[in-house]
Order: sequence, then structure tokens, then C-alpha cells
Amino acid sequence: MSQLHNLPLKIPLSCYAAKHRSKQVQLKSSSGGVFSSLAEYVLNNNGVVFGAAFDKNWNVFHKYIEHIEQLDELRMSKYVQSTIGNSYKEAQSFLQTNRMVLFVGTPCQIHGLKLFLKKDYKNLLAVDFVCHGVPSKKVWQKYLKECIIRKIKFPIQNIQFRNKRLSWETYTFTIQVDSTKSTKNNKNNSSLTPSNVSNEDINETLHKNPFLRGFIHDLYLRPSCYTCKNKGFSSGSDITLADFWGIKETYPHLFDKNGVSCLTVNTSQAKEYLAQIDIEKNQVKFEDALRFNPSFINSVKCPPFRKYFFKLMNKIEFKLLVLFGQVYNKMLRILKID
Ligand SMILES: Cc1cc2nc3c(=O)[nH]c(=O)nc-3n(C[C@H](O)[C@H](O)[C@H](O)COP(=O)(O)OP(=O)(O)OC[C@H]3O[C@@H](n4cnc5c(N)ncnc54)[C@H](O)[C@@H]3O)c2cc1C
Repeated sequence: MSQLHNLPLKIPLSCYAAKHRSKQVQLKSSSGGVFSSLAEYVLNNNGVVFGAAFDKNWNVFHKYIEHIEQLDELRMSKYVQSTIGNSYKEAQSFLQTNRMVLFVGTPCQIHGLKLFLKKDYKNLLAVDFVCHGVPSKKVWQKYLKECIIRKIKFPIQNIQFRNKRLSWETYTFTIQVDSTKSTKNNKNNSSLTPSNVSNEDINETLHKNPFLRGFIHDLYLRPSCYTCKNKGFSSGSDITLADFWGIKETYPHLFDKNGVSCLTVNTSQAKEYLAQIDIEKNQVKFEDALRFNPSFINSVKCPPFRKYFFKLMNKIEFKLLVLFGQVYNKMLRILKID
């Protein structure tokens, strides 16, 4: 857990426990649905919202939307590196025509946006989130191919890394399939479909799903994530979002099983925007949010197994590799070898 002596030089202007006013929106968001509250305000004022979506091959990329009906595409944390593509350029064009722009991304993506734009814009709301780190796209595709696509009978309809069917705190990795359409597996080779993965959706808890297990054990984050230069509010973002972990202990009366976000106001521009946005929020002490969320200021440590993971990636099955990684890391911890 982070200690207060690790406090970043920059501390936010204010900090809130916050959530969207609708339970439905909370349930389809990773934490309290604050992103949706910000996005609704911007879209209702003829603005444009940038965030991360899936493409048809379930890669993650940045895109913009102009209508509330498209918000589902951007909602929810996707634990894969998102390709920025042309979105910095597109955001700049919208900003230059005076349209309001909400740009959401990892702290390094927001830092990149700020460097690209080279100047401040009154019509930009740059929002990052507390970031554990982003997994490699190549690893994500290996997982999908070996553990999902090869085994399911029906095409994937939707993927959620943070489904709240159990709860916000005990989230589930969910793959919904479209059982009205068949895949090749179903048509040509039914032996490839094990009985435990039939035409039903896949729902695996955080500790059962191999991709999430490898993610939380830091086995395949991007190399720069282990020494992130954009921790501690140094990205230039106006607002930082996070899960309000530990709220049960720090502010039990504000706990909500459907999810609570932590929102920090980092600039006076954010303060002005926030005054106009319809959102349920209660001011709290930043130190209380930080206590249970070390990723605000610390990068995770690179586990020794990471280099073997990538060396063995083309030789060993994904599930087995994650298991090796967990066992290897645990052994080193027990033997106190760093
Ligand atoms: C890779 C990753 C790591 C995270 N690590 C932590 C952590 O350690 N601690 C913590 O408290 N919170 C972490 N978060 C943030 C948290 O999961 C929520 O995204 C945040 O609290 C906002 O939730 P929400 O309910 O307001 O919005 P949501 O509806 O969940 O919206 C999430 C927003 O993030 C954007 N987004 C989603 N995936 C990506 C991506 N891969 N790259 C860039 N932008 C993306 C979406 O477009 C959307 O704008 C992480 C998020 C991601 C994507």
C-alpha cells in the first residue's frame, strides 16, 4: 500500500467519490460511470468524445463519437493497449473549429495528446485514469485465438473485462456469443468444441480467467508501464478517474455495490466544467483514495518471468504460460529473491 511520504509533488485541487445518477449506466461502466456523465454533457453540447473501442477483430483502438447512442462502444475498461491512430489529429481539427472535445485515455496517451497539440484549448477536457498498465496487443490476440475463438461454436458478440453480474468489486470477464450464427468450429469440426464452452456466454471471475490473472500478476504489460513517467498527475489531464477502492473502509456511507468512481479535479478548467455537469458527487480527502489505490503514484514492478513469457510465447500454450508465470513469481517471493 502507498505511504503518504510517496505523495506526488502535484496533488489534485479536489477529490470526489462520484457516480452516474442512473443505476443502469453504473452497471454498464467499470466503476461509477463518471465517464458517461462527462460524455453526456459534452455530446449534449454538440461536442465530440474520444475513447477506446473494439474493432471487428477485437483489437482496441481510439475513435470518436458524436451521438449518445454510440456511448456503449466507448464505455468500460478494456485491458489492452489502445491504438491511437489518427485520433490526436482528429481531436485537433475539432478543437480548431471550436467544438468541445472530451478525450479519454491512459496517462501516457493524454501526455502524448498534450505534446501533439502544443497549446492549451478552453474547449478540451482531457481525462485520464489511474492506470495499472496496459497488456500487449499480441498477448491479447494469442489469448483470444487459443482460449476463445478456437473453442466457441458461435461468433463473439461482445467482450467485457469488468462485468458486474457478481459485483463491482468481484468482477467477471464475460464473452457474449451470437447464438444465431455459427462459426467454422460448429459447421466443420464439432470435436474442437469442449462441452464446457458450448453455445453459452463465457463468464469467468477475475481469479479464474487466465487473461485477467496474467494482467493482475503483471506478466505482459507494455515495457514502459513498469517505469511509467506519467504517474502522480503529471500527464496534464484536467480530470483523473479511478475505482474508489477501499471506500467501504474510508467512507462506508458512500459505498455502492454498483460501483463508485474516484474523480480528481486537476485544473481550474476541470472545476468550471464540473460545475455544469450533472453527477452525484461527495468531496473526500485525496489521501483516503490514494491509500487503497497505489497505482495513482506507483508503477507496478516488472516480474522476472515477463522476459520468459515473451520468449516462450510462440512455443507454449497461453494458459500454461500464465500458470508458469504465477508459480515462478510466487516461488521467488517465498524465497525472497527479487
Ligand atoms: C488498462 C486500464 C488499467 C486501469 N487500471 C486501474 C487501476 O489500477 N486502478 C484504478 O482505480 N482504475 C484503473 N483503471 C480505470 C478504471 O478501470 C475505470 O476505467 C475508471 O474508473 C473509469 O470508470 P467509469 O465507470 O467512469 O467509466 P467507463 O465507462 O468504465 O469508461 C472507461 C473509459 O476509459 C476508456 N478506456 C477503456 N479502455 C481503455 C484503454 N485500453 N486505453 C485507453 N482508454 C481506455 C474508455 O473509452 C472510457 O472512456 C484502469 C483502466 C484501464 C483501461
